[in-house]
Amino acid sequence: EEDLRPAQIRPLAGTTRHRLCAGQVCVSVASCVKELIENSLDAHSTRLQLTFIAHGADLIELTDNGDGIAEHDFEKIGLRYHTSKLSQFEDLETVNTYGFRGEALSSICIYADVTILTRHASASIGTKLIFDGEGQVISRTPFPREIGTTVSIRSLFNRFPVRRTELQSHSKREFSQALNIIQSFAIISRQIQFFQISSSADNHPPSHPLLTLTPSSSLKDTLAQIFGQKILESIIHIEDNNDDEDKEFKFDGYISRPQHGCGRSSADRQYLYVNNRPIDCAPFLRTINDIYRHFNPNQYPLVALSIEVLDRSTLDINCTPDKRTVFVEHLSNMCDQIRLILNKLFESSSNVYVSSNK
Ligand code: ADP
Ligand code: MG
Repeated sequence: EEDLRPAQIRPLAGTTRHRLCAGQVCVSVASCVKELIENSLDAHSTRLQLTFIAHGADLIELTDNGDGIAEHDFEKIGLRYHTSKLSQFEDLETVNTYGFRGEALSSICIYADVTILTRHASASIGTKLIFDGEGQVISRTPFPREIGTTVSIRSLFNRFPVRRTELQSHSKREFSQALNIIQSFAIISRQIQFFQISSSADNHPPSHPLLTLTPSSSLKDTLAQIFGQKILESIIHIEDNNDDEDKEFKFDGYISRPQHGCGRSSADRQYLYVNNRPIDCAPFLRTINDIYRHFNPNQYPLVALSIEVLDRSTLDINCTPDKRTVFVEHLSNMCDQIRLILNKLFESSSNVYVSSNK
């Protein structure tokens, strides 16, 4: 006999809720890398070393020289909504750290085997912590190391066969997305002095670094380091000459010259930042690409553009768990302004180009 009573609404158990939501934070090698880099930068690190084994499927490890984690925090690191960075919702407007939700490490614990080796300035020796899937510390042993932290993420998605298979079959693509994230932080961070990336495609530890970056205090020099010196010939500075008292945004960055040959065949090198956070903002990028197309119909520009939203109350950085999507209240003004700036820039830059060829 069919049961006609309506289904009952019941609360989900805490662990179930946690597992359901965690999947949105740590969805890929790239998102794990992003969370690790953010944590290291938030801890004032200047030297970062990232190691990948099997393109990150077997190991993603970040060693930093940051503040380290004090012993009284060991049990809290892996717990959901435990953070040292924000204490009340209102702080969102003033928060200057990349992290504030306190959920990255707890979700990574669900999806992978996490080990943290850390030493805080207050400790005479480091400690190695091993976490279980619930984010609880299951082992702690003294271990010598300098002040700083190493977070190791092993066997990502091992307990989730569908995701694991997916990851393994696209591990190269996932790794290149992770590299893109690394570059996006290297471009914007004035804090990183040394950034080394090592990677192996198989299950052996990499024998030598793939890439060493020593980001400079100038954005231009950093771009040259990442994309090669030759890039300097093909990019122009985005000048923001708007001195209005009541302006809402400030722009600073570089973009490919509009002349053919300076751009790229795909939109693969486009980095946007809002108040120093790497972000995704499709409508804004579309505006930039549309203007560029007007001057160069066959290519996409390299873009590294930092936007400062001057009134923090018109900016919401908490739209998605990965914080990559931001909500800018006056987005259409922001698009209008960049359109003005770029049109002027491209018009004068095309003139220079023509006259220098006479
Ligand atoms: P959030 O960054 O939002 O605070 P996380 O889950 O990413 O949340 O990290 C939890 C806490 O662990 C952080 O608030 C910080 O105190 C500590 N932590 C994580 N990574 C590091 C690190 N590399 N160095 C120092 N402290 C760290
Ligand atoms: Mg964090």
